[in-house]
Amino acid sequence: MFGDIPVEVSPMYEGERIRAANMFVELAGPKSIGAELVQVAGDVEDGKVSVIGPEISEMVKGEIYPFGLKIDIQGEKLEKELESVIERRVHELCNYVKGFMHLNQRDQIWCRISTEAMESGFKFEHLAKSLSILFKEEFPIIESISITVMTKKEEVTQFIEMAREKYTKRDERARELSDEDVDVFYGCLMCQSFAPSHMCVVTPDRTALCGAINWFDCRAAAKIDPDGPIFEIEKGKVIDAEKGEYSNVNAAILEKSQGTTERIFIHSVFGHPHTSCGCFEAVAFYIPEVDGIGIVNRDFKGETPLGIPFSAMAGQCSGGKQVEGFTGLSLEYMRSPKFLNADGGYGRVIWMPKEIKDSVLEFIPEELQDKIPTEEDVNSINEIKKFIYEREHPVIDRIKNAQVDEPVEQVDEPVENEFEEAEYGEASMTPVAMVPEIAIPASGGVKIIFKNAKIYAEKVIIKRK
Ligand code: SF4
Ligand SMILES: [Zn+2]
Repeated sequence: MFGDIPVEVSPMYEGERIRAANMFVELAGPKSIGAELVQVAGDVEDGKVSVIGPEISEMVKGEIYPFGLKIDIQGEKLEKELESVIERRVHELCNYVKGFMHLNQRDQIWCRISTEAMESGFKFEHLAKSLSILFKEEFPIIESISITVMTKKEEVTQFIEMAREKYTKRDERARELSDEDVDVFYGCLMCQSFAPSHMCVVTPDRTALCGAINWFDCRAAAKIDPDGPIFEIEKGKVIDAEKGEYSNVNAAILEKSQGTTERIFIHSVFGHPHTSCGCFEAVAFYIPEVDGIGIVNRDFKGETPLGIPFSAMAGQCSGGKQVEGFTGLSLEYMRSPKFLNADGGYGRVIWMPKEIKDSVLEFIPEELQDKIPTEEDVNSINEIKKFIYEREHPVIDRIKNAQVDEPVEQVDEPVENEFEEAEYGEASMTPVAMVPEIAIPASGGVKIIFKNAKIYAEKVIIKRK
């Protein structure tokens, strides 16, 4: 089937990592631009493959290129609502191709091609052909598929603009509904290939943490493939509406996490927060010194007020772990009226990058908009304290009431550049920890500190008796 493809194509290569030493070129990612988009269209010429811009053989070793991947599909039973779910499989199916590594989704994609693949004659044309075959195999309702690969900057720039409009339309649709309006949520297990105990719970108010799949998308996916990785969860008994705890969601997470996670609070970072696989768009993290919550997104390059960047933060809470005080989330969830509902929503947020604040500003209550500092206002927890006191942020009442005055745990050592590689994402070898120092938060007087540790483990279970 893949006879004319010069590299092997198989699920066994899904966990393959292409590190800087054996990389030929990088595509998209934080130092360039890129996007992927699946569209249901009419008149799709089956098997058509186009490459606009330099082919792999014309690229220069070590360089970084823009990258666009446009996939048009046609089929009698294909609905527009299936686009997101099919698009989310691009990640997995690209990684079947030996010598090609794909991370993230939408306009956050980040890919690499190995030197070995290039030397064997691998081209984008082969990537597109492989994907055409794999997609038709995975989704028999796709009758025709055509794929365009773009590596020319102008083309990719235009394509990203178009793709972003489509992403926004999909996201906006999900805002029509809230959790109370439905009896059914959805579970997604697509990321269990690298986070075996992780299950996303997708509700109208909580778009999946990868930001790529909303409740409507899940509904369409579960309808065409009820035994697939996306399935219905009847909400069952409402245990706590504010936190977003439901009996059947708990039962589903217990079963699908193989007993690792017993409860999930959909709208809180405390107690039993939603687990995180690794492809979240942002992380919400508790800052005990100010009893508030910070948010950091994947694109933010600086350090958070905790003194560590996004990548180190991601290392602490990815891999399907439930870590109190941390939760991965999508940027769209920050537009939901239920955003961290149980914790006080934006009334509890005391730091976020300027870029994110600007993008969700209209969803932040007006009276709070100038009370939440960004990296342009503050650089440390002490500066946050000063800022929120001056602006009378609502958390100061909490601080006063609780008289929180605990010593600040400092992380003084610089985080190694190794994180630039951001290898924390979607790998079978996802490090449990890879930082100069981390303190795993745990209530009940227990704190575990790793120094200069790089730990790989199939499973780490820390239980408090
Ligand atoms: S992040 Fe969640 S919703 Fe997105 S593909 Fe992975 S498991 Fe599914
Ligand atoms: Zn994931």
